[in-house]
Amino acid sequence: MRYAAQKGTKDILPAEIYKWHKAERVFAGVCHDFGYEEIRIPTFEQTDLFQRGVGDTTDVVTKEMYTFNDKGGRSITLRPEGTAGVVRSYIENGMASLPSPVRMFYNITAFRYEKMQKGRMREFHQFGLEAFGSEGPSIDAEIISVVDIFFRKMGIKNIALHINSIGCPVCRNKYNEMLKDYFRPHVDTMCEDCRARFEKNPLRMIDCKIDGEKDVVRNAPRLIDHLCDDCRAHFEGLKSRLDAVGIKYEIDPNIVRGLDYYTRTVFEFVSENVGTQGTICGGGRYDGLVENCGGAPTPGIGFAMGVERFLLEAEAQGISFEENDSVKIYLAGMSDAANTKIAKICYDLRLNGIGCETDLMNRSFKAQMKYAGKSGIPYLAVIGDDELASGQVNIKKMEDGTVTPVELDKIADFLTAK
Ligand code: ATP
Ligand code: MG
Repeated sequence: MRYAAQKGTKDILPAEIYKWHKAERVFAGVCHDFGYEEIRIPTFEQTDLFQRGVGDTTDVVTKEMYTFNDKGGRSITLRPEGTAGVVRSYIENGMASLPSPVRMFYNITAFRYEKMQKGRMREFHQFGLEAFGSEGPSIDAEIISVVDIFFRKMGIKNIALHINSIGCPVCRNKYNEMLKDYFRPHVDTMCEDCRARFEKNPLRMIDCKIDGEKDVVRNAPRLIDHLCDDCRAHFEGLKSRLDAVGIKYEIDPNIVRGLDYYTRTVFEFVSENVGTQGTICGGGRYDGLVENCGGAPTPGIGFAMGVERFLLEAEAQGISFEENDSVKIYLAGMSDAANTKIAKICYDLRLNGIGCETDLMNRSFKAQMKYAGKSGIPYLAVIGDDELASGQVNIKKMEDGTVTPVELDKIADFLTAK
């Protein structure tokens, strides 16, 4: 029997993990610099939470969830995203009593039953954050800055920021009525999904993947032109804050999230490189979500970034990630006595946080040299009876072959100074 990884899943192999570590470290670092703390939420929740929290008219909920009954007969779903779980945790743990805004970031796996494509998987990873308790628009601009600074620190360029406002239930309901009047004569020519959206939520017809390019959709009235005064002022506030820090954006009236609890700011970071699944990061404000999930009315905002898509983009841009060089030295032993001494030296080095390797395969001296050469470990020390007697060893820098004599019990000092 030969097993294969399930469709849509992928091993992240030791040979590439350094890229993930770098991205994870930089993302966490940027979030910390803004005052966000990490939250870790469970992989599965009760299905109902996602129906409420993600919305039971969305593709994610209607088509893509991994839902099953557990042995206790409960309907369980593997998280398709992070927001619903974080909102559940915020309410359940009484975080509303913490000083506002309550700001958290996460690094999670997510599961969606989707057709496989480059950058579209069934198990994938998201970096994201959520902030509760602030109406913005300062915090809207802040979370966009988190993404912007993350990209800059990773050396990523040419990612376009698209922003829009989808208003509040008041202006959106009025607009939906207007949109219904507009689409009524055309609805019969539209796709099945759009016919259902026409009844339930006309706003979502705007970003239909099937009908979206049709003139009738492209020429539809735009919500951004029909915001109420408060929503307009909020959007202007966001724009002026982005302008103030020099973050460039385009206004894209086609970004919609047609659920009642999504409000005002929506944004996407889209790659300008062809061949990458377009949207690397999507986010927005959800002032009605906490209440919808059983908490007190609380404004909220967040985003999620697809890590696989981010890494594909980084690769397309030729970004170099430093390799993991935590192992600093290879110690080769020429005798049993030397190997015993090496075991002790290695123990002490590791205790001091200095990575080292020695033979674990009973290799010949020649084979050890070959292994050390291939491993990319930057320093080499060969210890035999002479070195034991003199208490000194020559440490070779593999890169240029230079040799430095070092006392056997000063190896840690030598390597730390490097
Ligand atoms: P798309 O329109 O590409 O399906 P989405 O609107 O479903 O994206 P969100 O729910 O906003 O995506 O998720 C946030 C981010 O997570 C996306 O911008 C993307 O980078 C990533 N993402 C979403 N679905 C997948 C997937 N199946 N595989 C890999 N990454 C994904
Ligand atoms: Mg999707």
